[in-house]
Amino acid sequence: MRAVDIIEKTRNHEELSEAELRFFLSGYLEQTIPDYQMSAWLMAVYFQGLSKTNLMHLVQIMVDSGDRLDLSSLPGIKVDKHSTGGVGDKTSLVVGPLVAACGVTIAKMSGRGLGHTGGTIDKLESIPGYQSEVTSEAFLSILRQHQVAIVGQSPNLVPLDKDLYGLRDVTATVPSIPLIAASIMSKKLASGADKIVLDVKVGNGSFMDDVDQARVLAQTMVDIGHSFGKTTIAVLTDMSQPLGQAVGNQLEVQEAIDTLQGRGPRDFTELCTQAAIHLLEAAGVDHPEQAIQEAISSGRAYQKFVDFIQAQGGSISAFEKLPSAPVIYPVTSDTAGVVTAFKTKDVGHAAMLLGAGRATKQATIDPLVGIKVKVSIGDAVKPGDVLFEVYAQEQRDDVTQILKESIMLGDNATPPQLIIDVIR
Ligand code: URA
Repeated sequence: MRAVDIIEKTRNHEELSEAELRFFLSGYLEQTIPDYQMSAWLMAVYFQGLSKTNLMHLVQIMVDSGDRLDLSSLPGIKVDKHSTGGVGDKTSLVVGPLVAACGVTIAKMSGRGLGHTGGTIDKLESIPGYQSEVTSEAFLSILRQHQVAIVGQSPNLVPLDKDLYGLRDVTATVPSIPLIAASIMSKKLASGADKIVLDVKVGNGSFMDDVDQARVLAQTMVDIGHSFGKTTIAVLTDMSQPLGQAVGNQLEVQEAIDTLQGRGPRDFTELCTQAAIHLLEAAGVDHPEQAIQEAISSGRAYQKFVDFIQAQGGSISAFEKLPSAPVIYPVTSDTAGVVTAFKTKDVGHAAMLLGAGRATKQATIDPLVGIKVKVSIGDAVKPGDVLFEVYAQEQRDDVTQILKESIMLGDNATPPQLIIDVIR
């Protein structure tokens, strides 16, 4: 078998055999296929796509490249959720304990953030003592005791994805639907849950701005899930403005705590509730909406949060004593109008400049800094009204400028629909 023939066939949109794909992909992992040939193949997939059969082979080969988590020793149905990521997206911090408080086990492996989106693990690490790296045995033990754990992805879970993603990142081949779908779903399948809910973000704060493209991505991932025998539901949700108010690690944890205690922002609460309903329905829970309301109002949802954080070494009382950022200042409107749109990625970028996110993989995170977004699309503002509150180490004129320019004002606007579609 020759790598060049496999690249040529893919370039010509011809079907490959599973043996050909396995030879090529395993060879890349074992470093017998060089970066330049894999780059050419990725670009061929970018332009030509993959047949459904080849996509399923790709997913299988990716899953087979590393460890699989075996959750079968835990009782009941195990669920997992994944978001394609956006600005202010701290949904997992709420949905995890909420679902667990309703009696369903949720086992989550999450990532760190890069660029304009934050990562769930970075947010949790703003809680003093919280450990994201735990052994598989400890992960299972926390799940057995508390029905929820959120840990960093094990280094040997789909190692092929790590290698391919690194190459895609520098060869302009990230935004390919089959490659994204295989990357996300191989990790979900290797993580061992029975039922998967995907939150596919659409809008200028996510990496899919086009609703039709996002729908194709969602359908592709649902098809992969079903082919592998897992109930998979994808919810298309709006990311044309930051989610909730808080953007930045400590601020987002605080907003998640508020939401678990029934005091969260309306849009964020709605999204968490919808995600939790889908997860509970998939696990066969009757009257999930009622179960969720009861878990929040009784305090059990927040208690689950405290329990799993403590089980992973975190101290909520130390978190409550964390100092606030040294400088807190408002960014105000210069003119009057109705908020018609956000440059959402710019809000994430401004938070990153403050130190809340990473420009490079090696950069360190400042847990205290971030932004509170005080207006939403459809709100009327007048000169002097506060648009953002900035939590920073020092006043930053560049950040103020980016934030001022991130909001468009006009005559009128209708707030976007948060849940755009559900694909089963
Ligand atoms: N997230 C992933 O895990 N993989 C992709 O390819 C894109 C987003």
